[in-house]
This record gives sequence, structure tokens and C-alpha cells, in this order.
Amino acid sequence: MTASHIARNLSEVRQQIDTCCAQYQRNSADVTLLAVSKTKPAELLKEAYDAGQRDFGENYLQESLDKQQELADLDIIWHFIGPIQSNKTRAIAENFHWVHSVDRLKVARRLSEQRPTELPPLNICLQVNISAEESKSGITIDELPELAREVAALPNLTLRGLMAIPAPADTLEAQREPLAALRQALEAIKDEHPQLDTLSMGMSGDLEAAIAEGSTMVRIGTAIFGARDYSKQA
Ligand SMILES: *Cc1c(COP(=O)(O)O)cnc(C)c1O
Repeated sequence: MTASHIARNLSEVRQQIDTCCAQYQRNSADVTLLAVSKTKPAELLKEAYDAGQRDFGENYLQESLDKQQELADLDIIWHFIGPIQSNKTRAIAENFHWVHSVDRLKVARRLSEQRPTELPPLNICLQVNISAEESKSGITIDELPELAREVAALPNLTLRGLMAIPAPADTLEAQREPLAALRQALEAIKDEHPQLDTLSMGMSGDLEAAIAEGSTMVRIGTAIFGARDYSKQA
């Protein structure tokens, strides 16, 4: 995919966000576009950056650290959105601004302990498993209040909100159902945590449903960078 494609794709995605926001009576300024750049080389991130993109989402730690080094002179906001192994928390705590995929207290504790004190607190979303299927990642809605309370108490983290990756669904209605559940889960703990302001939901295939249900951060990969090729990965 060439540079011009990425700038064009980005502007199409931004246009789509604006259109959906107008349709669902939302302010587009309340929806942050996260460009999900896993498997994509640093040059393509730079093209997106040159087209005005600042927030990037990454899933694979080493791959992301390599790209961060190449792009160190750019004011990119780095979001870690992949599964977290607890022996990798230090590098995440040191090199990212946000982590969307926290689903265990042990990981949250380590991120807080390992966050360098000269940096601002690490922004955290708790990953919730909202599709009632056997996906490995994410806490249940029942587990949420307790984990939220524990994470909010950790000194070097700022609990910002919730993240989910729902099972794929074909219709807008079917897509909206689990996303509505995530929105309601956030609303249910907001009395206790009034600072929560983030619903990280919506990908290339369910962007409209996510905006309809109140997403404040959409994580878009394919629609910006094209299909991913995993065959070249180690
Ligand atoms: C890969 C990924 C995305 C982006 O998905 P697309 O369908 O390519 O837009 C979003 N969120 C998470 C957590 C991902 O792993």
C-alpha cells in the first residue's frame, strides 16, 4: 500500500467518523481515532503521521519497540492494545502512554510499580469480555466493579475506561448489542469512578455500531493500512 493510499484511507475513515457522529447526534471531537499499526512497518506509520495521525495502537511489544525507536523524533501517542504477558510489563510501562488490555490485577500492579515516576500516570482501560463466548481475554462484567476499584487505587495509573473486542457480527443491530453492554458497564461504575471518560470500542468492521453506542476511541487498522500479512512474522 503506497503513501497516497494511507492519506486517502485516513481521510475516508475520518469522514466516516464525522458522518456517523452527525447521524447519532454526537460530537466528532469526542471520538479519538486510534490507528492500529500492528504488522505494519515504521514507514507506513510515518505516512499516517504526516497525514495528521498521532495516536497509534500496537499489539506486539518487540515489534512496537522497534518502530518506536525508528520514530522516536515524532510526538506519537502509543497505545498498547494486545494481550499482556506479566514478564513484559516493564517495557510496556516505560514506553506507552495508554494500555487498553488490562484484565488482571497482577498486571495492573506491575504496570503501576514499573511506571517511571518522571512520566505522567499510565492511562488504563480494563478489557471486558462482552461477547458470551470462550474468548481468552477480558474480565466478565461481574468481575468489573472489584477490578476497577483495585486498579483505580494504584498510584501510577489513571483508570480511564473500558475496552472490548466483540465477536464479529453481520448486522448493525447484532453489532450494537455487545457494545451497548460495554457502555452500560461503564455507566454502572461511573458513580464510583466519575473520572472515567473512555469507551475503547469499534474496529474497521463495526465503526458505525461503536459510534452509535458511545465509543470515544475507535481502533482502526485494516481500513487505514490495508489487510495484514502475518506470513512474514517470526
Ligand atoms: C487488530 C486490532 C484492531 C484493528 O482491527 P481492524 O479490523 O483491522 O480495524 C483493533 N483492536 C484490537 C485490539 C486489535 O487487535
